[in-house]
Amino acid sequence: MKMDPDWQLDTLAVRAGQERSQFGEHAEALYLTSSFVFESAAQAAARFSGAEAGNVYSRFTNPTVTMLQERLAALEGAEACVATASGMAAIMATIMALLKSGDHIVAARGIFGATQQMLGTIMPRFSVETTFVVGNDPAAYRAALKPNTKLLFIETPSNPLTEVYDIAALAEVAHAAGVLLVVDNCFCSPALQQPLALGADLVIHSATKYLDGQGRVLGGAVCGSKELVEEVFKYLRTAGPTLSPFNAWVILKGLETLKIRMQAQSANALDLARRLEAHPMVARVFYPGQPSHPQHALAMRQQLTGGAIVAFEVKGGRAEAWRVVDHCKLLSITANLGDTKTTITHPASTTHGRVSPEARAEAGIGEGLLRIAVGLEAVDDIEADLRRGLDAT
Ligand SMILES: *Cc1c(COP(=O)(O)O)cnc(C)c1O
Repeated sequence: MKMDPDWQLDTLAVRAGQERSQFGEHAEALYLTSSFVFESAAQAAARFSGAEAGNVYSRFTNPTVTMLQERLAALEGAEACVATASGMAAIMATIMALLKSGDHIVAARGIFGATQQMLGTIMPRFSVETTFVVGNDPAAYRAALKPNTKLLFIETPSNPLTEVYDIAALAEVAHAAGVLLVVDNCFCSPALQQPLALGADLVIHSATKYLDGQGRVLGGAVCGSKELVEEVFKYLRTAGPTLSPFNAWVILKGLETLKIRMQAQSANALDLARRLEAHPMVARVFYPGQPSHPQHALAMRQQLTGGAIVAFEVKGGRAEAWRVVDHCKLLSITANLGDTKTTITHPASTTHGRVSPEARAEAGIGEGLLRIAVGLEAVDDIEADLRRGLDAT
């Protein structure tokens, strides 16, 4: 039993992709093995040549990883998915597989710090240049395209400001120029947003975040058409940043609670955003689920909820923001997100600390900005923890 075409997302998250072994185990099996044995020299040759389907070596494929790939593909509505060692490995593999020296990328300035670093400082050494576009106006992306542009890369909602990008409009811009639209779907997960259905060509995941959901392992994935995913797979199996079977197993179990976690954490985030908006020390709250968010209508069209990330600007600057962080006893001071435990971070000095001050200012990441990745604790307790620092400033 792999999956039924009529199954809804909730069912797919629990059941899709599972292959039972001869032992009939109920839970997904964890195949901790680096290689696979063959019955004969002829079979080994057939497996290596690809004439016979089957596993050879876990850098190429592993049955636990395959189950995760099938489940994630089902959730994203993708033909295919390939898992990677981390979210950054997914981004790197996509670029290395699909681009060559002399190609060009158009990316949003508001993308994840490490992605900015990779596109802005590493890829130019291989003559792959990136134009960063500020904001989310599709016309600005169209204007940044060049004859050698191959990829348009966005993240929505963006990190940490939760800017929402119109996936369907940007897909049109990209496709009119023969460019692929790649969407990092980390903040929403497929439980809240399915970019491929809106026209994106590839979806990238840091499975480290909501897909695992409990801060245990690193992982990543690329989902899309068979043809594109096959290219990424060919790069991965040779270059090596594939997902470990143990991490795949943990993420498979994480996916089973993805929908209820995303719904509960989104509800907590909405509640917290409203409470923060009412606090006199808060200059501004960034939450797509609130009418105060500039792209609230678009977010509600393209996402099921506003998500579980709330950013807010503390009046003052770095000292006031750090005071809030330092008064936290419940919230974890960590740059990670997508956990059932609520986390707090000061982006300007952590996740975006290596981005140049000019680029940070351009992206609107101020010194007073804090990002909360809301978890499953009681909102009263989360609010009380933040109030200690806010009321003291
Ligand atoms: C964390 C993150 C990544 C990178 O993922 P890793 O698993 O840490 O490599 C990429 N994009 C976004 C939006 C992220 O939050």
